[in-house]
Amino acid sequence: MSYFDTSIEFLKGVGPQRAALLQKELNLFTFGDLIQHYPFRHEDRTRFYKIREVKEEMPHVQLKGKITDFQIIGGGFKKRLVGTLEDETGELELVWFQGINWVMQKIKPGIEYVVFGKPNRFGNKLSIAHPEIEPITSGNERGGFLQPVYPVTEKLKARYVDSKFLARLIADVLKSAQPQVRETLPASILQNNKLLDKKTALAGIHFPKDHNQLAAARHRLKFEELFYIQLRLIKMKLVRQEKFKGIVFSDTAILTKFYKEHLPFPLTEAQKRVIREIYADMKSGKQMSRLLQGDVGSGKTIVAFICMLLVVGSGAQAALMAPTEILAQQHYTNLKKYTDKVGITIALLTGSVKKSQRKPIHQALEDGSLKILVGTHALLEEEVKFNKLGLAIIDEQHRFGVAQRSKLWQKNSEIHPHVLVMTATPIPRTLAMTLYGDLEISVIDEMPKGRKPIKTSHRYDSHRLQVNGFIRAQIDAGRQVYIVYPLIEESEKLDLKHLMDGYESISRAFPDVAISIVHGQMKPEAKDFEMARFVKGETKIMVATTVIEVGVDVPNASVMVIESAERFGLSQLHQLRGRVGRGAEQSYCILMTGNKLGPDSRTRIDTMVKTNNGFEISETDLQLRGPGDLMGTQQSGALDLLIADLGKDGEILKQAREVAISLLEKDPGLERPENKVIRLQIDSMKRTTVNWSRIS
Ligand code: ADP
Ligand code: MG
Repeated sequence: MSYFDTSIEFLKGVGPQRAALLQKELNLFTFGDLIQHYPFRHEDRTRFYKIREVKEEMPHVQLKGKITDFQIIGGGFKKRLVGTLEDETGELELVWFQGINWVMQKIKPGIEYVVFGKPNRFGNKLSIAHPEIEPITSGNERGGFLQPVYPVTEKLKARYVDSKFLARLIADVLKSAQPQVRETLPASILQNNKLLDKKTALAGIHFPKDHNQLAAARHRLKFEELFYIQLRLIKMKLVRQEKFKGIVFSDTAILTKFYKEHLPFPLTEAQKRVIREIYADMKSGKQMSRLLQGDVGSGKTIVAFICMLLVVGSGAQAALMAPTEILAQQHYTNLKKYTDKVGITIALLTGSVKKSQRKPIHQALEDGSLKILVGTHALLEEEVKFNKLGLAIIDEQHRFGVAQRSKLWQKNSEIHPHVLVMTATPIPRTLAMTLYGDLEISVIDEMPKGRKPIKTSHRYDSHRLQVNGFIRAQIDAGRQVYIVYPLIEESEKLDLKHLMDGYESISRAFPDVAISIVHGQMKPEAKDFEMARFVKGETKIMVATTVIEVGVDVPNASVMVIESAERFGLSQLHQLRGRVGRGAEQSYCILMTGNKLGPDSRTRIDTMVKTNNGFEISETDLQLRGPGDLMGTQQSGALDLLIADLGKDGEILKQAREVAISLLEKDPGLERPENKVIRLQIDSMKRTTVNWSRIS
């Protein structure tokens, strides 16, 4: 056990009760935890301002002065205490709405205080509400420091454990820990990348001398955090490449036939490039693990099929696993058009396939006569045994975890199949490098030619009549329309009511039009039935919640109306929009919102109107919400970052990844003496984090 594993209970001023509270509220157990509880900002206490210099735009000011006067003004909940603070240049008001008695007891007129807070202006008077106020001491009278501000909770504050209290604890621990702090990066990396050493960085992140030192400390700690994540991912990749041979596929007879006689359209350059990348892997003798990213509609299906052809043509089998039944069904239908042309067997296996129909599928799979199997996680079941699984494709949409990926991969234990993970939600580079940094990455960054970009517009609820007129015109022209309502768990009842109200008013507005409705509360059979009616064109309007987000492909649908669009996240809006624009006709997306929009909602709506590019959209989404909230990434422990921010630290991430790659190139086993610090650090991380236990 190291010094850093000492329980915080033993710190002066903590004790068992506060320790328990710090554990519960902030997850702080040990000295090490405390040192890594980084401040989220610093208050600038470097200088004192004169009252004459204060302007309302200043974020904070630090002043020195005496209180000359206290007055209680107003009554009831408008009651407030106003003190006048004076220095030799002027006066300013200090205002308290709460804790008035306490303030009047503690603060004495005529004594000089240090005052800190955010200036405001009311009329022609400057004031500071609820300032921090302390008597002058030898510690604060000269200023010259940056005061760290730590995250704390209300419960902690109620027990007098506030940011200042934590600052004192951390200062104590840092002082005694200083000799024990071990450098965690090799000297050459520090030098080449101009990074602060660990001791200085830890001191500097909490109690920096100045802004420059703070910035350098943050940089160093972010680099370290990202470096170790990348090191682990790249190491995993190297281990896998070394350990697992891949089946070599090279028989291109069927493939050539398909290309020459049945290719339904010329491939885009991006599709061709990606296919070449995948082929190179599948011929390399190493087992492929590749991520295929491409926006909705970029044509991932045909790429998947062409890859399957190489595998099947060489006598092996391919599997495609999708996250939902509808999606699996759709993949099956799409692929079957191609397989029929070249005479390849294909089957669909989902939870709803009857027992009696499963038997022959299992049989054909085992004897090798069935070449392609499409399905949901039903593919992972024990009874599903392949004769020779050569390629496993996972249409992921962030819904499968690593465990499921690996289960499919185990389906050929003799020689593991090549793995291709497809995601329909484009994710920003930084996120891809972190979530999928152990995979090779291919990107389809080009849409098929002749596709008309979807026209997106923003309309306020008050323009509903016009929007209805537009819908009417589209239906008269033979098109179909989606109208989507938000439905989130927290407000499910109310949302469902909005959906029903919406459905009724649409029915009134279009009395002669056949309308479908689909939502999560319906029985699956009823849902499928309604969906099927819309797909067949029997109904013209589909009123739905986001259940239609994944899967459905109705080329004749040309309008996507999204109600209360301000309530959707960007990625979700983009996914929904991707449901239209699949046919030859011009398609439209209409974002309906109330008249009042907050700044973030405004940015989301504007981004949607401005661009159809999924990568641009996900980048903006990352900036707005941070990685933790991006679609489906919540469960990934890889994103529990202490200090780095994938939305802002792309450059540091790139640098850290490059350094990790070149380090492992030169010293794959981390055996060189100068890399001993890395081995030590990995060992200590293995003890404390789940992620690290997976390598070696
Ligand atoms: P996604 O990447 O969203 O899975 P799909 O594979 O479903 O996209 O393709 C979307 C549509 O575009 C399909 O109707 C498909 O047939 C068509 N498509 C794919 N590639 C091309 C291409 N190179 N030229 C023309 N149409 C294409
Ligand atoms: Mg698809």
